[in-house]
Formats: sequence, structure tokens, C-alpha cells
Amino acid sequence: MIIQRVVLSSRPGVNGVPVAENFRMEEATLQDKVSEGQVKVRTLYLSVDPYMRCRMNEDSGSDYIQAWKLSEVASGGGIGAVEESKDPSFSVGDFATSFNWPWQTKAIIDGKQLEKINPQLIDGHLSYFLGAAGLTGLTALLGIREKGHVTRGANQTMVVSGAAGACGSSAGQIGFLEGCSRVVGICGSNEKCSILVSEMGFDAAINYKEGDVAQRLRVLCPDGIDVYFDNVGGDISDAVIAQMNPNSHIILCGQISQYNKDVHYPPPLPPAIEEIKKARNITRERFVVLNYMDKYAAGTLQLCQWIKEGKLKVRETVVKGLENIGAAFQSMMRGDNIGKQIVHVSE
Ligand code: NDP
Repeated sequence: MIIQRVVLSSRPGVNGVPVAENFRMEEATLQDKVSEGQVKVRTLYLSVDPYMRCRMNEDSGSDYIQAWKLSEVASGGGIGAVEESKDPSFSVGDFATSFNWPWQTKAIIDGKQLEKINPQLIDGHLSYFLGAAGLTGLTALLGIREKGHVTRGANQTMVVSGAAGACGSSAGQIGFLEGCSRVVGICGSNEKCSILVSEMGFDAAINYKEGDVAQRLRVLCPDGIDVYFDNVGGDISDAVIAQMNPNSHIILCGQISQYNKDVHYPPPLPPAIEEIKKARNITRERFVVLNYMDKYAAGTLQLCQWIKEGKLKVRETVVKGLENIGAAFQSMMRGDNIGKQIVHVSE
């Protein structure tokens, strides 16, 4: 059977900005035979994520992320429908997800790499399992629970950077749900700021591309900052950390502002900010969602329940067609997405 797939065509290079042309769509032949333990799936949705920038390098720079090989099919989070199964855990018509879904229209995947999903948990919004009810939602929830030290009734102020993206938009809302009394977001456009406040319940939002972040934080966080959900690093994070309270906590989730640069992860703080961190006893522990797989099942149920109850609002930016996945990745990296960036491959 002839299928379409997307391969890494070229690398952006050290310190290079990724472009859609780094990827190429081509036809390939999918074998007809499904062997014992395998499942044939039709791809419905694919996820593009910031960590994929590291996979585009020759060396991903990380111990748990593998670099993509040139001219080989790329992969990431995906969701599909089962068309044929030789794994007793899956039947035709089931929906399944995997963190390692090949970027192709159909695939034969080992059943052990797939997880069955129940669309009823989120009223049929299957793609949510790649975002607010999937790994990015779990990153927000478990990041806050494991590293945030949020205490109900303690009158804590949380700041979230990358606040209008997939992780950030969930993190701010979950900050409230877990007990913070004030949440302020930082993101890259006035439209995003307005959505955070009017739709997602943030108390305030700062457009870092306009004006002075430090000065706005002083006004919007008059009692200082107790919890910082850091998605971006760089100058924005330096401005936040400088206003954090003694014994406060940074959830070191991601550093997207540094991903196109040839720096070690996590990048060190500038000496003056490191000094503030030490003097105020601020924790800055790296959080990696993949280290908490034992908490996924309960976390997913919690996220689905909040979504169904309308307590966790979900935004997606959906691009149609496998041929547009490179453009979707480029667009997400430069900030065109609001909420989770999804690629809709087939109905
Ligand atoms: P997003 O949906 O947040 O998309 C990326 C966003 O980053 C863009 O929309 C853009 O928004 C912002 N951005 C891009 N460049 C810059 C820059 N130079 N400075 C500031 N902001 C920038 O992606 P995700 O929610 O999937 O990921 C967010 C972060 O979480 C990433 O750092 C990612 O690596 C991390 N992550 C970590 C995980 C973990 O286990 N630790 C798991 C999943 C994600 P804007 O308009 O605001 O600039």
C-alpha cells in the first residue's frame, strides 16, 4: 500500500532557526502483512513540540531525546484509529496514542508502544489527548505538583512564561485549581494576553514584546512571586526570578528561548541572577514529565474531569494536512499558536 510520510530533509544547523523546508513529504510503501503483536493504524492527529528542535540537530544535546536521522521518517506524539490488529489489547475501531508515532498517513506499530484512549473521557475531542489531556497537560499538572510547592490558602502568586502555549495555558489554570491566589502570564502578543485573562481566568498578562517585563511584574505582583512556571528561560526568566520571594520555587519546565542556540540544557543563570537565587533560597529543579509515568493515569483522569467540568479551558491551533507539518512546527516555534499546536492528518 502506498502511504505519505514526512522525513527530516535537512538540519537547521547550530544556532539556526528551523524552517518548514527542513522537512520533506514523500511516498513510501507500507507492507501488507501485520505480524503477531502489531497493529495497523490510520493517523488522525500529530503533535509538534518544542523539544523536536533538539531532535533536528545531529546531537540532540539531551540524554533522553534521540536526534532524527536525515531522510528517515520523523516521529512524535500521535493519535490514530486501529484498522487491523494482531494484538489482543486492540480491536478495529479503537483509538490509540503513542509518544513515538511516525509522521505518516498509516503505520504498523508494535501494540506495546500504543496506549488505548477513550474519547468519551473528553466528549470526543480526541486531539485533546495530545494537549490538555495528554503530555502537555500532564507536564503542567505534575510540574506544579512535583516542583511547585503550591499550598492552598497560602496566598501564593504564580507567574507563568510561555503562558498562552500548550503547557503554559494549562499551568496557569491549574495553578488556581491547586490553590494559588493570583496568576500572571507572560506571552508574545496582545491577543494572547486578552485570551488568558478573558477566557482562562488569569488575573493579568504581560506581552513581553511590548514594554518592560520587570516593571509590569512589579505592578502586577505587588506581594512578589512565590511560584514560577518557566517555559522560556533567558531574559524573561531573569526578570521574573529577580522578583521572587525568599523560599520560593521555580518549576524548570522548558527554555524555548534558548533552543535555537548551541547551549547546554538547562542553561545556567547569569551570575547576578544565580546569586539572587542562592541568597533567597529559591529552588530551581529541572522537571521532566517522562520521569513520572506512574502518575499519568490518575493525572489524565483529573485533567479530563476538569476539562469536562469547564474548569480547565482548552485552546488549540489546528493545521490540516500531513504536508503542512513542517510549517506547523516552524509556526509554533515562532509563536503563532494559541494553545496546543495540532496537525490534523485525517478524519
Ligand atoms: P507552546 O505551545 O508553548 O509553543 C511554544 C511557544 O513558545 C510559542 O507559542 C511562543 O509563544 C513561545 N516562544 C517561542 N520562542 C520564544 C522566545 N524566544 N521567548 C519567549 N517565548 C518564546 O509549546 P509547549 O507548551 O509544548 O512547550 C512549552 C515549554 O514546555 C517548552 O519549553 C517545552 O520544551 C517545555 N516542555 C517541557 C516538558 C517537560 O517534561 N519538562 C514537556 C513538554 C514541554 P509567544 O508568543 O509567547 O512567544
